[in-house]
Amino acid sequence: MSFALHGAGVGGGIAIGQAHLISSARLEVAHYEIRPADVELEVMRFSLAVDKVRSELQALRRSVPASAPAELSAFLNLHLMLLEDSTLSLVPRELIRGLRCNAEWALVEQMNYLVAQFEKIDDAYLRERKADVVQVVERVLKAMLDQQPRAAGAPAHEESLIVVAHDLSPADMILFKQHQYAGFVTDLGGVTSHTAILARSLDIPAIVGAHSARQMVREGELLIVDSIQGVLIVDPDPLILAEYQQRREQIELKRQKLKRIRSTPAATKDGIAVDLHANIELPQDIEQVRESGATGVGLFRSEFLFLNRDDLPCEDEQFEAYRHVARAMDGMPVTIRTLDLGADKTVNNSAKGGPNPAMGLRAIRLCLAEPQMFLTQLRAILRASHYGKIRVLLPMLAHAHEIEQALAMIAQSKQLLDEQKLPYDRGIQIGGMIEIPAAALALGIFVRKLDFLSIGTNDLIQYTLAIDRTDDSVSHLYDPLHPAVLHLIAHTIKTGARVNVPVAVCGEMAGDITLTRLLLGFGLRQFSMHPANLLAIKQQVLGSDSGKLAQLTKRILHAEEIDQARELLEKLNA
Ligand code: PEP
Ligand code: MG
Repeated sequence: MSFALHGAGVGGGIAIGQAHLISSARLEVAHYEIRPADVELEVMRFSLAVDKVRSELQALRRSVPASAPAELSAFLNLHLMLLEDSTLSLVPRELIRGLRCNAEWALVEQMNYLVAQFEKIDDAYLRERKADVVQVVERVLKAMLDQQPRAAGAPAHEESLIVVAHDLSPADMILFKQHQYAGFVTDLGGVTSHTAILARSLDIPAIVGAHSARQMVREGELLIVDSIQGVLIVDPDPLILAEYQQRREQIELKRQKLKRIRSTPAATKDGIAVDLHANIELPQDIEQVRESGATGVGLFRSEFLFLNRDDLPCEDEQFEAYRHVARAMDGMPVTIRTLDLGADKTVNNSAKGGPNPAMGLRAIRLCLAEPQMFLTQLRAILRASHYGKIRVLLPMLAHAHEIEQALAMIAQSKQLLDEQKLPYDRGIQIGGMIEIPAAALALGIFVRKLDFLSIGTNDLIQYTLAIDRTDDSVSHLYDPLHPAVLHLIAHTIKTGARVNVPVAVCGEMAGDITLTRLLLGFGLRQFSMHPANLLAIKQQVLGSDSGKLAQLTKRILHAEEIDQARELLEKLNA
């Protein structure tokens, strides 16, 4: 039966494909139905995997030398205990029998349930034991994967699959970069959550905040993801399908046409030059940046190098990653944001930053609290600066002392490199993100101490309007046109121009074609966005006359009602 679900569209396109239900990318498992006659075989497959893991863990325990720290044996004992616990060893068998589902799926369903129970525990130590549950489950999954041949039913071609998940973390999304799915849908998530931002960087149509999609969609069902309207159509009838196929082709045609302006310099009709830079998460994204014709990297979210791993990348590993990007950009600016860990991006197994992570020990706060980690990164960035035009961008600044401490640590890193006679760019520019309202309202300290500013509108909106950007239940209130948000942005751009400190916008607003003229009208001359959006934004810049924007942008800025601002914006874009 055909039906539709609504959510927030991400990526501006249309995907058509078969549903592929997954739990999380880290533990990606397919979901398929088992024939009644094969159910006991499936239960046996699960039991064999549990037996195998038990033997592995027992063998490991026997091989622990007497001199090894006591924690090692305790850790293995804990994993054995978890494996034997009925919640992990028996419940999945009941699920296989009751739901006639494959063993992997049953196990991950039960794991998700257990993890949710652990998350409710007040005691931080016990709460973090959920990581042990996940590790044991990973072992069992691996044991099942090793059993060949695999049960039939698992789906094949990734390019024709649309991933449907309850929730995906930014770390999960990074793993998606190794896949080629047609699109994806999640029950949770806001449009500027990092999960959605990564979907944009994957350049695939997606819908976040689709509420009960994973519950209502079945494996293998035909889906249409219309990320322009934020609609998911399940099992469409042939007429609807034909219409969407046609629309998909038109969008593709338009994208191909846009490629013609790849090397055209970005300037308004009246000759105002505009820098269009790209945002990246990983060094491998640089390929897409070069294809987009970006003239620099305006935001390298370096913390993504730290996800999906249990250790921290060492100085050399980071240096290689930064140098790779610097070299690939061949003298064009590369703005490396120092670690913005915390909030929704945490290193595996590390505790979340306090009761309210978005307002907790995040970004520069975490870096200043963990000086060794920060110094390692600063040295790696400085060393890489010898190979291109690197700039350093400090996230989440609010206080003068944070800037001073960060600058002191940069000076200390330079001194260490001098002592080791390692080269770096002595004129390296240091900038700060304006993403906390306090920063936008106290710009004096920023423009005095820093070389450039970059407005992170995603967080600026989150903190100005007190809306968790990852929470879809309040995402309807997340509005870039709120007068308070517009005032903070316009004020920052104007102040920067007055004191000659360059200001960029690197949040999602910079890649939103409906806001390009407004930002140009505020005086913005540097935009940084996902490479996938860049050519469309360039076309909008090429078609704009900066002289004609002033009057309407002023009226938008002074509109008291969001609806009024929206109406005026339509006129500006007409
Ligand atoms: C922002 O907050 O606008 C920004 C660019 O940083 P991030 O999205 O990584 O928080
Ligand atoms: Mg931010």
